[in-house]
Amino acid sequence: MSGKLTLSPVFEALNRAARERILILDGAMGTQIQTLGLDEGDFTGTSSGQSLRHRTEHPQKGNNDLLSLTQPKVIEEIHYKFAMAGAEIVETNTFSSTTIAQADYGLQAAVHDLNVAGAQAARRAMDRATAEDGKPRYVAGALGPTNRTASISPDVNDPGFRAISFDGLRVAYLEQATALIEGGVDLLLIETIFDTLNAKAAIFACGQAMQAHGRQLPLMISGTITDASGRTLSGQTPTAFWYSVSHARPWTVGLNCALGAEAMRPHLSEISGVADTLVCAYPNAGLPNAFGQYDEGPEDTAQQVAEFAREGLVNVVGGCCGTTPEHIRAIAEAVAEHSPRKVPEYA
Ligand SMILES: [Zn+2]
Repeated sequence: MSGKLTLSPVFEALNRAARERILILDGAMGTQIQTLGLDEGDFTGTSSGQSLRHRTEHPQKGNNDLLSLTQPKVIEEIHYKFAMAGAEIVETNTFSSTTIAQADYGLQAAVHDLNVAGAQAARRAMDRATAEDGKPRYVAGALGPTNRTASISPDVNDPGFRAISFDGLRVAYLEQATALIEGGVDLLLIETIFDTLNAKAAIFACGQAMQAHGRQLPLMISGTITDASGRTLSGQTPTAFWYSVSHARPWTVGLNCALGAEAMRPHLSEISGVADTLVCAYPNAGLPNAFGQYDEGPEDTAQQVAEFAREGLVNVVGGCCGTTPEHIRAIAEAVAEHSPRKVPEYA
């Protein structure tokens, strides 16, 4: 990220805290939304008398990001519960808030509003939590991978075909990052990266959005391992992934989601061994069962994440799919006795 940018004051506060302890990220928004059993009318807001400003013929049930606009209190409450369980950094409900991902719901025109509303809901919840206990808290604007991959053809019969271009991704991410910053996020988090080329478009776009804003925010970059041999979908080892994104000088790099904490450990260890920045890990609550649900309890997940901490692999920890506020509370308690990973200094 070039040009003259003022460093956000958040850097100093976060770095000071990260030298003292392992920082706590939140858990899964989607898992909390699922327990509420919301129907189509709840998603569109019509059941509470609203009319969606952005017209579409598509069904909206399952479009979790839309709830930031139609059920902002519900989203704020979930963030608040994670904050009170110990999360000091929470992720906005914007994983799919790009024109690319929202095309599935015909809501491309809503992405600006989705990101601003997502940032504001998280900010309100953090401000409430901080007013209660005085602990500083931060909002990370979440940018998901989208449902298209720039590196690989989705058509086995046409290996040269690409469903999305680098510039198509960059433009979509720029719109998202700009709106997240406008909504007041403290950090930007590019997560669940299965394709490093998609991530590069997101990194580039985040840099452009920060330039326009005149202020550099901490950037978190989190990949995901999609196969048992320990590679990303686009075929990279954890080490290759780090060297492909290290030029962005991220505040943290690490892994999320994937196959649960146990399967994540060796790959996290590899990243921790090469990255000269803070390392962040937020695994799923184990592997999903046949119904797509996560059975791993808070204590089980917490014990495994504590193992990361005991081995000195992590600076920031939280949970991904299947993790609840109880998981985050257990993780926060389990890592409290451990020192944060020491960041190696290379020339
Ligand atoms: Zn996940």
